[in-house]
Amino acid sequence: MQNSRSTKLFQQALQSIPGGVNSPVRAFRSVGSDPLFIKKALGPRIYDEDGNAFIDYVGSWGPMILGHCHPQVVAAIKAAVDNGASFGAPTELEITLAEMVIDAVPSIEMVRMVSSGTEATMSAIRLARGYTGRDNILKFSGCYHGHSDSLLVKAGSGAATFGVPDSPGVPADLAKHTLTATYNDLDSVRALVAANKGSIACIIVEPVAGNMGTVPPKEGFLEGLRSICSEEGIVLIFDEVMSGFRVAYGGVQELYGVTPDMTTLGKIIGGGLPVGAFGGKKEIMSLLSPAGGVYQAGTLSGNPLAMTAGIETLKLLKQPGFYQKLEEKSAFVAEGIAKAAKDAGFPIYSTRVGSMFCAFFSKDPVYDWDSAAKCDTKAFANYFKAMLNEGIYLAPSQFETAFVGASHSTEDLELTIAAAAKCFKAL
Ligand code: PLP
Repeated sequence: MQNSRSTKLFQQALQSIPGGVNSPVRAFRSVGSDPLFIKKALGPRIYDEDGNAFIDYVGSWGPMILGHCHPQVVAAIKAAVDNGASFGAPTELEITLAEMVIDAVPSIEMVRMVSSGTEATMSAIRLARGYTGRDNILKFSGCYHGHSDSLLVKAGSGAATFGVPDSPGVPADLAKHTLTATYNDLDSVRALVAANKGSIACIIVEPVAGNMGTVPPKEGFLEGLRSICSEEGIVLIFDEVMSGFRVAYGGVQELYGVTPDMTTLGKIIGGGLPVGAFGGKKEIMSLLSPAGGVYQAGTLSGNPLAMTAGIETLKLLKQPGFYQKLEEKSAFVAEGIAKAAKDAGFPIYSTRVGSMFCAFFSKDPVYDWDSAAKCDTKAFANYFKAMLNEGIYLAPSQFETAFVGASHSTEDLELTIAAAAKCFKAL
């Protein structure tokens, strides 16, 4: 594969942008190569600066569920920009998208728009703290909720460990308020709740984890969290920034029938433009400024272009049969890749929920961060590079989710499975 222009641009970017990228995982470091610079995208394909085309399973890390440049979304954004890019004042578009979100997501009675998933989760935990008057929060090892200080914390050496910062710059004094439990392990949650009785404001969880690869919740896990939170007066937050409008129109909470107190969203509801949102019960949301005293604000919040892209995207997702077709495509490609690995005698553990899927390079089941961390990341890196050479663009890390979109054709999926078969045989 010819990539001299990407190489040159990366060298240039390194001079002006830290690490050459504006978000770390884009740098391809965990697979030991340099990033491709992308020029354009259309439908299921992205095209790099050297003119190579790839079938895309990253989808801008989740938002592009319709594929790139859906004509209806593009036309709506073009029309919206003629009215002005931003006003910093309320618009009818914000009400339209808010009402669509409220109609779709079972837990959301009121919603506030922000500009990223990070802002959504950061604001949701502030509101949960304000609502309960408690300081501690509980998250799960391997779940990513954006990069705000309180959430950039993972477990130490056990479920009962107080948080240690994951990054220089996060004060230990703040990180100590973040407790970390083990995903899919209710006992680890119960132990932390018992040891910190009356001091936990919220439990925040990716109800289908997508940031340690794709890890579905075990039967009873989400229900168990719901009961613990109800019993202990803890606010249950589902972080559906990735899974919202992805695994079902109403997200994981619709698919699994468990309703949290609050939900965070992002990615798909902006149709590829910068967006986030958090919402929940009226009783909690009405504490938010200016209705209540918990402060939260944003210059570009509810941006008219982002609202427009979100509204048009949700209209298309709402069409009858959309998720059924996506489910069929996703099952076809995920099962095809798993079979290709098996036929080549290569051990992988395959997971999928809706159009989120992952091939873990592990012969054992993956159900939490520790089991995910045992994967053969070197073999994954080789697979990633081989797939790229075959024209398949996967996320450059074992601990990410692959996304299927509506624009992937049967032929695209067959090409992907054939490429995987070739790559597994060569590994
Ligand atoms: N929450 C989840 C579950 C995510 O997957 C992400 C990003 O990948 C975030 C929060 C942060 O969103 P953003 O990158 O828009 O700040």
